[in-house]
Amino acid sequence: MPLNDRNSSDRKKRRQSDSVRPFVLGLTGGIGTGKTTAAVHIASRGYFHVDADAISRDLTRDGSPVVAELDRIFGPEGRWGDPKTPVVDEEGSLIRKNLAALVFSDPEKKAALDEFMFARIGEIICDRIGEAEGPVLLDAPLLFEAGLEGLCHRVILLTCPLDVRIARVMERDEVTEEEVMARIRSQLPDDEKAKLADVTVDNSGTLADLREGLDRALEEIDPGTN
Ligand code: ATP
Repeated sequence: MPLNDRNSSDRKKRRQSDSVRPFVLGLTGGIGTGKTTAAVHIASRGYFHVDADAISRDLTRDGSPVVAELDRIFGPEGRWGDPKTPVVDEEGSLIRKNLAALVFSDPEKKAALDEFMFARIGEIICDRIGEAEGPVLLDAPLLFEAGLEGLCHRVILLTCPLDVRIARVMERDEVTEEEVMARIRSQLPDDEKAKLADVTVDNSGTLADLREGLDRALEEIDPGTN
């Protein structure tokens, strides 16, 4: 059954049994909600940080086997490609902007790319969790979309007002509001994610407010007692 067909209580029940170690805390939230900032704080509290975005970037580094496979599938000659849109340049670098434009304008292509990448990222995440000696923070923007919450004992969702997120991402990535919105629309809406998460932490205040909210959430989620 596709992960997205499960209802929220089924999905929560399917999480790892509490007897399984190490304790894995999931951290997720939409684009620009402050996950990277929050992850640094949670790691300072003794969690081993597993960063799904960093794993994805490493898999798609210049000249990697994954980039070559992406070229075969999404390049001009590929099943999901567009004859006029190269996704890898002559040096073997992924042209991220072209790949994003290709998949964010076509949900079928987006689903094909997600399926391809989630499988590869998931394998590496499992390896990293297996190496950890203490509690793990699994920081993944698409935690629910990728079905990664099945690896987590508890999940924190970060939220932040849409206008603040859009402004931050437009400034950081030099993209238009429409491009940010296309990415946001491709993610599960916050109210769906809130049903699947154990704790929601709001990040509309100051950085100190965020750290306080996270510490409260961590107390609630104490890996020593869960
Ligand atoms: P993405 O999903 O796009 O990777 P993210 O969720 O990891 O983003 P961050 O990079 O942590 O978000 O935060 C976005 C920007 O907002 C960063 O420049 C960060 O320093 C800033 N920021 C995060 N939280 C706050 C806050 N409470 N107050 C002010 N600035 C903040």
